Amino acid sequence: MTDGQASVGQVRDWLRDAQRITVLTGAGISTDSGIPDFRGPNGLWTRNPAAERMSNLQDYVADPEVRRRAWQARKTHPAWTAEPNDAHRALAALEKSGKLLAIVTQNIDGLHQRAGSSRDKVIEVHGTIWWVECLTCGVRTPMADELARVSDAEPDPACRQCGGILKSATISFGQRLDNDVLQAAAIAAETCDLFLAVGSSLTVRPAAGLCEVAVNAGARFVVINAEPTPYDEIAAAVLREPIGEILPALVSAASEG
Ligand code: NAD
Repeated sequence: MTDGQASVGQVRDWLRDAQRITVLTGAGISTDSGIPDFRGPNGLWTRNPAAERMSNLQDYVADPEVRRRAWQARKTHPAWTAEPNDAHRALAALEKSGKLLAIVTQNIDGLHQRAGSSRDKVIEVHGTIWWVECLTCGVRTPMADELARVSDAEPDPACRQCGGILKSATISFGQRLDNDVLQAAAIAAETCDLFLAVGSSLTVRPAAGLCEVAVNAGARFVVINAEPTPYDEIAAAVLREPIGEILPALVSAASEG
């Protein structure tokens, strides 16, 4: 199904003609890899609204029970066993065409890099679950090391350097985004000629606001998402097909131009 003014064929032509493509990805690109999104029909928060508290910085800092539950949830996070899918691989192939400026991802799962996208092309605006950061001194340690401590009867491990509270190196609600990362994402939105938003409900700012940044700077803007988003109205095309099918088909066109 296609909303907006343009057909799938038209979007393929745009990808073929584009010279500088920026892709904003969200949880919807990883659902085919077995990682549920938050707000889709089978989303974590759709099914269990209480889970949202673990992603709230204030609750996490104030309540040791929230932290203990968060560590238990991290132990079984689907990212540890998930494999990249065809959509992640399509974006890695897009980089080879030489037209990819950046993948700005809201995802924390590391699947773009594991699919073959270069580290310097992937801008992780919401951080990564593969690392842990101390909220006091900022020291970073691998997640695997801290999960080993949790399994060794430390249900809420403290920073070994300063005793501070440890959290996955992801951005929680109420937590500021890294300025340098945000600036890199803004430049990627401002300097592209085609901006694709893939698998995101586009409800989390400031990431979602990048769509407007790109449009205001003159880029063509395309939404690929199963459900409506608040930015559909300013999109040149809205494609509602399954991401794992439509993205590889579109990206193959980019390599033709
Ligand atoms: P979201 O859950 O708000 O929205 C995901 C959207 O993707 C939904 O509108 C859903 O309809 C759509 N979708 C899901 N699977 C699809 C498919 N196969 N084809 C087409 N559309 C599909 O996700 P968001 O906008 O990224 O915001 C959620 C926040 O949660 C982000 O900040 C992200 O950091 C975090 N998160 C990350 C992961 C991950 O790393 N994989 C998973 C869940 C949540």
